[in-house]
Amino acid sequence: MSNLLEGKSALILGVANRWSLAYAIAEAFRREGARLILTYQSDRQKLTVESLAADLAADRVLACDVTQDQDVDRLVAEIKAGGGRLHAVIHSIAFANREDLSRPFVETSRSGFLLAHEVSAYSLVTVARAAAPLMTEGGSITTLSYLGATRVVTNYNVMGVAKAALEAAVRYLASDLGPKKIRVNAISAGPIKTASARAVKDFASVLDFVAQRCPLRRNTEPAEVADTAVFLASDLGRGLTGNILFVDSGFQIMGL
Ligand code: NAD
Repeated sequence: MSNLLEGKSALILGVANRWSLAYAIAEAFRREGARLILTYQSDRQKLTVESLAADLAADRVLACDVTQDQDVDRLVAEIKAGGGRLHAVIHSIAFANREDLSRPFVETSRSGFLLAHEVSAYSLVTVARAAAPLMTEGGSITTLSYLGATRVVTNYNVMGVAKAALEAAVRYLASDLGPKKIRVNAISAGPIKTASARAVKDFASVLDFVAQRCPLRRNTEPAEVADTAVFLASDLGRGLTGNILFVDSGFQIMGL
C-alpha cells in the first residue's frame, strides 16, 4: 500500500501477544508509515509487548491498566512530555470473567456485569477523554466490537451487553468530539482465534459455524480488521464517524 498514515502518530492499546488484533493493527499502521506508541496491561505482558514493539520499531511502550485512572493520566502525561501529538487511537480492550462466558446470561453476577462494562465499554470513554487534548490536528479513535452487541450469540453473554454499551458510547463520543475533528468508530470483527476469544465457551464451534454460513465462506483474518483500521485512521476515512463497520465475511447480513 502507500504510506496512508505517513506523519501520523498512533496510540494502540490492547496488544497482549502476537495474536492480538491490536498487534495486527500495529503491524498495518507501521507498514503505512505511522509512528507507534503501544501499551500493555500489566507486568505479566511487559516483556512480550516490549519485544513485539521492538519488531515494529515502535517509539514507546507504556504501561496502562484502563481500570486505573492514574495509569491513563500517566500515559497521557508521558506522551505529552515526549512532545507527542496523537492522530489515531486504537482501543482493542475487553474483559469478562470466564464463568460469565459459559453459564446462562441470567446468572451474571453484579460484580461480573460491572467488571465487563468497566473494562470493555467505560474504558473507551476514559481513553477518549484523555487522548482528545493530544489530537490537536483532529484524529480518529477506533474500537473493536462484535455482533453479540445486537444479536444473541451463545455464551457471549455479558460481553454482548458490554459491546452494546461500547457501540452506544461510540455514537455519543462521535457527537461530542466531532467539532474537534475527532472521529470515533468501531470495527465489528468476525470471530478470530485470540486469547480473549478462547475464553468464550465453545468458541471453536462459532468459528466453524460462521465459516460455513457467511457469504465469503471463510473466517475473518486479523489483517482484514487491521486494514480497515488503517482506512478509518487515514484521510480516506475522513467522512466517517459514529459508525460500526462490520469486517466479518458478511456474516451479519444473514438470516435463514
Ligand atoms: P486479546 O486478548 O489479544 O486482547 C484483549 C486485550 O485487552 C489484551 O491486550 C488485554 O491485556 C487487554 N485488557 C484487558 N483488560 C485490560 C485492562 N484492565 N487494562 C488494559 N488492557 C486490558 O484479544 P483480541 O481478540 O485481540 O481482543 C481485542 C478486542 O477485539 C476486544 O475488544 C475484543 O472484544 C474485540 N473483538 C475480538 C474478536 C475475536 O473474535 N477475537 C471479535 C470481535 C471483537
